[in-house]
Amino acid sequence: MAAAAQKQKQKQQTMAEQEEIGDTQHGPFPIEHLQASGIAALDVKKLKDAGLCTVESVAYSPRKDLLQIKGISDAKVDKIIEAASKLVPLGFTSAGQLHAQRLEIIQIATGSRELDKILEGGIETGSITEIYGEFRSGKTQLCHTLCVTCQLPLDQGGGEGKAMYIDAEGTFRPQRLLQIADRFGLNGADVLENVAYARAYNTDHQSRLLLEAASMMVETRFALMIVDSATALYRTDFSGRGELSARQMHLAKFLRSLQKLADEFGVAVVITNQVVAQVDGSAIFAGPQIKPIGGNIMAHASTTRLALRKGRGEERICKVISSPCLAEAEARFQILSEGVTDVKD
Ligand code: ATP
Ligand code: MG
Repeated sequence: MAAAAQKQKQKQQTMAEQEEIGDTQHGPFPIEHLQASGIAALDVKKLKDAGLCTVESVAYSPRKDLLQIKGISDAKVDKIIEAASKLVPLGFTSAGQLHAQRLEIIQIATGSRELDKILEGGIETGSITEIYGEFRSGKTQLCHTLCVTCQLPLDQGGGEGKAMYIDAEGTFRPQRLLQIADRFGLNGADVLENVAYARAYNTDHQSRLLLEAASMMVETRFALMIVDSATALYRTDFSGRGELSARQMHLAKFLRSLQKLADEFGVAVVITNQVVAQVDGSAIFAGPQIKPIGGNIMAHASTTRLALRKGRGEERICKVISSPCLAEAEARFQILSEGVTDVKD
């Protein structure tokens, strides 16, 4: 698990010590650092072309994947892995050390204090948070609000970083960001400038966008990565039981790449998910139930799962469904023109 800002800060310092890089340098070790350990510039370029932009991405990759890169031999792969594992800690640490690191993890405020409270601060950086719920339940609105709050200073619940938005449903609206920016007293034009947007057109394209995302994250500090929704295109690109296993494999790979971004760059990854009505025996007793799509693959990939549902009027309810450390609590929030806020009774 990445210890977000702290880890990055430490690395930036050591990097700065090593080669006196200016303040503009952010994020984990750029892949070029391998050259100092004797990896040829040409091989570094090959890694980069394959989408591996940081030393971390190499260290976290299975050997099998590295072998598939064109022009890199068996022997070279071993040399590269050795060089990478010297720079990136891959072994055991004490729980005490991990605890100290985890205390430094940033949470991004959601815009609603009540919601932040059950999330113990907000959306966690360095891991995947899945938000699922029916249509109009506020998933996209919450994503928009986070795109703004992630830019706020740390002491205001922000992540002091940019946001990246992969839109699979075509519901991203920049004017909403302007309205939300107003509420936090941020300059609208700056806020828009700090959000990198891409529309995803199919599941292969959606996966490819993550390669570009990684190369952008090496250049600048991003605090947040949104995929709204992660599963919509899977629903239509693959159909029926015949393609189910291919769909799940593809989805699993996509989610793993997202987790890699969270680990490498300490960004908060927020994915939204659609739901289906569950039509089994339980429906007879408990009324219509909904469940998120993507099956177990989705359930296991997301570190924190949040379920949204509609309440009265503009009121929405968020429930923590699964989390390694949060209680299964509920919070109410509201969607207004200024984004996600507390319910005003
Ligand atoms: P879907 O599954 O269809 O993507 P969703 O969960 O993403 O749904 P949102 O788009 O986040 O749903 O929420 C839509 C709701 O947000 C609308 O019902 C509307 O009430 C509210 N909303 C959107 N824009 C505004 C606004 N400017 N002011 C107040 N409320 C708004
Ligand atoms: Mg939506």
